[in-house]
Amino acid sequence: MSDGKFVELSKEIEDIFYSMVKIRTDTNTRWEKNIEYFYNNFFHSIEYFKKRSDYYGFYPIDKDPLERNLVWALVKGMGTDTIILINHYDVVDVEDYKTLKDYAFSPKELEKELIMIRKELSKEAREDLDSGQYIFGRGTADMKAGIAIQLALLKRYSELNNIHGNILFISVPDEENLSAGMRSALELLDELNKRFDLKYILTINSEPHQRVKKDTGVISEGSVGKIMPFIYVRGYLSHAGKVFEGFNPVSLLSRIANKTELNLELSDFIENEASPPPTWLHFKDSKNHYDVSMPLGAYGYMSVHTLNKDPIRVIDDIKKICTEAFLELIEYMNMEYEKYCSNIDRTYRPLPWQPKVVTYKELYDEAYVNHGDAFVHSYNQALEEAQNKVATGQKSMADINLYLVERIFDFIDDLYPRVVIGLAPPYYPNVSNLNFENLDTKIKKISGDIIRYAMEKFHQPYEREYFFTGISDLSYTSIKNGDEVAQSLKGNMPLYGSIYSIPLDKIEKFSMPCINIGPWGKDFHKLTERVLKEDLFYRTPSILNYVISSLLS
Ligand SMILES: [Zn+2]
Repeated sequence: MSDGKFVELSKEIEDIFYSMVKIRTDTNTRWEKNIEYFYNNFFHSIEYFKKRSDYYGFYPIDKDPLERNLVWALVKGMGTDTIILINHYDVVDVEDYKTLKDYAFSPKELEKELIMIRKELSKEAREDLDSGQYIFGRGTADMKAGIAIQLALLKRYSELNNIHGNILFISVPDEENLSAGMRSALELLDELNKRFDLKYILTINSEPHQRVKKDTGVISEGSVGKIMPFIYVRGYLSHAGKVFEGFNPVSLLSRIANKTELNLELSDFIENEASPPPTWLHFKDSKNHYDVSMPLGAYGYMSVHTLNKDPIRVIDDIKKICTEAFLELIEYMNMEYEKYCSNIDRTYRPLPWQPKVVTYKELYDEAYVNHGDAFVHSYNQALEEAQNKVATGQKSMADINLYLVERIFDFIDDLYPRVVIGLAPPYYPNVSNLNFENLDTKIKKISGDIIRYAMEKFHQPYEREYFFTGISDLSYTSIKNGDEVAQSLKGNMPLYGSIYSIPLDKIEKFSMPCINIGPWGKDFHKLTERVLKEDLFYRTPSILNYVISSLLS
């Protein structure tokens, strides 16, 4: 592209960017559909799509209560090789803007307001504000900048004749929530593959990148995985005055939480990259009101990030930790009980507890062995109720598991304390180009080429990482043992296959390498979210254009 053409492109990006930021698209709300009008107008205004109204469209998410759509557009050239440009059009809420909520989607006004409260901002945010090199606002970095760049380039490519290969643009909702958009995108890819004979060779996302070194940009050749194990502990009820007759589930769940929180054994390390260690997102007992008994159950879930573990391995690792915690607690209880007995001159006999840790599937199977079809019938009813509670917003997908696991316990005859491990949605597989054995040479050396190009063209250093750590939709671009993972999810994620599912077979079918190339952004999801102008208008589009044109030549 000539320099003149690039000035035009920057102007185009600017127009699209400000129009899109202005459109409020809070994730998991009715607001998300606001974007559809914009997209419709945009494609209508492009010669290429005017002549080919079947080359773009809105693709509904199946059974979505918010009736959201994916947006797609295809620029078709010669041959089957296809590059997918993906992005998400939802943004997180504006709670962090407090009194400035009205300006969150108007970068120019917001800038003036921020200048007035500049003293309250962090030093770095203040310096960036003063420098004039950044655009502030909700969704500026995450990720309407990336969409604007992709769209402007798509339009440019639609004006060229006879390009080699095809470019498929896909814009999805719900990325900041459960990635319903991207999970549906796999179905869309399947349909378009049949309709247009497309061979998907690479997915490019344009999420903003964060920097460790201030002067070095980052491109990612993969994305970290995320899995949410939940733990339910069934205790043994007793009056609070007779503690040694009971087993307090809160005590065991606390031990498990302490042994897993920030536990690096649950993190993955590859070369010099690590997945963030696990952290607990929720923790409660099963009581709804006060009484003088111990709670019967305790429930919580944690977020575990992965670089190479699958759900089967994560459940195994957590099972071991739970068993250790269980043994330690029994030992501690016996120790205290022994002291207690000797203080009151009573004969000490060890408490009856034994460690027992099972998966959700094992618990389900036990209930079935105990009560057969009567259990299945009741469980299916409970599952239906659970789905309704989620659909009507009374409970989240993560919280409803407590209800389901307790319904199974109604059919468990062995009432001794135990730990149950399951999985709560969402699940993001870890992906990386590292996992591909026979990568096309062009794609294999793409990061090196980008790094060289950016240095020559802008004197801008870049480095490659194998995993984008911010959780992204790239997680759904490849998987290896899809069948095994599906089995594990079916058995251990109660909602899997009903209101939450992942088209693992399609992901495996289209398994393709991926890359994230996005502008430099900071403080995503915060009041001071911002994107670097230089990247948005010049550098990132230039790099993206370089990648697309070198792969499709
Ligand atoms: Zn994002």
